[in-house]
Amino acid sequence: MVKWPPVNPDDEKSLLEAFKSGRWGRVPGGVVEEFEREFSRYHEAKYAVAVTSGTVGLFLSYLAVGLNEGDYFALPAYTFIATATAGVLLRAVPVFVDIDAETLNISVESLKAVLEQDKDGKIKLVVPVHFSGIPAELDEVINEARKHGAKVIEDAAQAHGAAYKGRKVGAIGEAGVFSFQSSKNMTAGEGGVIVTNDYEIYIKAWSYHNAGREINGEWYMHALIGWNFRMTELQAAILLSQLKRYDDEFKVRERNARLLYELLEGNEDFKPVKPPTYVSSSNHLLPIWISSRLIKQYGKARIVSEVNNRGGVVVEGYPMPLYRQPAFRESYWKLPDYSRLNLPVTEDACRRVIWVPQHVLLSEDETRRTAEALVRVSRELR
Ligand SMILES: *Cc1c(COP(=O)(O)O)cnc(C)c1O
Repeated sequence: MVKWPPVNPDDEKSLLEAFKSGRWGRVPGGVVEEFEREFSRYHEAKYAVAVTSGTVGLFLSYLAVGLNEGDYFALPAYTFIATATAGVLLRAVPVFVDIDAETLNISVESLKAVLEQDKDGKIKLVVPVHFSGIPAELDEVINEARKHGAKVIEDAAQAHGAAYKGRKVGAIGEAGVFSFQSSKNMTAGEGGVIVTNDYEIYIKAWSYHNAGREINGEWYMHALIGWNFRMTELQAAILLSQLKRYDDEFKVRERNARLLYELLEGNEDFKPVKPPTYVSSSNHLLPIWISSRLIKQYGKARIVSEVNNRGGVVVEGYPMPLYRQPAFRESYWKLPDYSRLNLPVTEDACRRVIWVPQHVLLSEDETRRTAEALVRVSRELR
């Protein structure tokens, strides 16, 4: 089994150095700043702000692009709840959009329809999610958003190192957010980072995450209402070390993803979601569609346990479209009634898509075992 999070000697050394330095919280000239420089360079962005989580990164970037109370924002219904709740915290209203069955990313057709219905221009922000590490159709999404006068924040929580038409994701829209939570391709247990090419967004996000201070300003001078969402030097030390080997791991995941496609080629029951040729995926997850036949007979949970009992490693993934989560019925937030919403591809994906987690793809053996277990299940569950 590949251990995740990784216990790596280089990371250990880097962490210990930061620990012994006695500087654990963010300091000028420290490791967090170095990480911001290195990560923004890696993602071809001018600026980065390291924060405490991906959720917080989304919240701060929505705030920095001007999402306001009562505004609407569009997002795919097949994503982690933070994509939505980051905006709810600003008292903005999520508008759920269906996904594309080929990529599981926001459907441009559905987005167009949603924007067309929004006659009085309430939708001020569109949040494409690079689900599983496959970049969303950014050219079209950004084009549709621009026509509507809406901003674009990329939820790149799963997409470290991913590229769209040769360009690293994150700062293609107004800003993008990555997560370093335990399951992600790079992790410090928790953490997140905002990347952007826009100086105004950068200084706002920086200020909001640091008690409303100004960069190079006085400690007890607060220009904006802000909070403490600072990353620690200890987290940054681990991440900086991981970033140095990230490209190598990226390639290993890519190679093993291809191996899995090969081993499942022609299988009637398990069809992997493959990235389009003009993107490169971070392979945070390798989503697999299960045939309707198998699902009807056994259901997702049973199939997952049958695969795992045969030595594979797969997980069930999102159990329901986001708009069906009980959280959105809490009266306090005064959200619309989503009970009649029904986005067919999202509904189908929640019923029929399972995921191979990224750490499996770091091992050829485990990738093989997982593919073989899938093939056996397809043969044996009739
Ligand atoms: C993990 C994740 C987040 C949230 O990141 P945290 O660091 O856990 O707060 C947001 N969006 C997506 C798509 C994610 O997978």
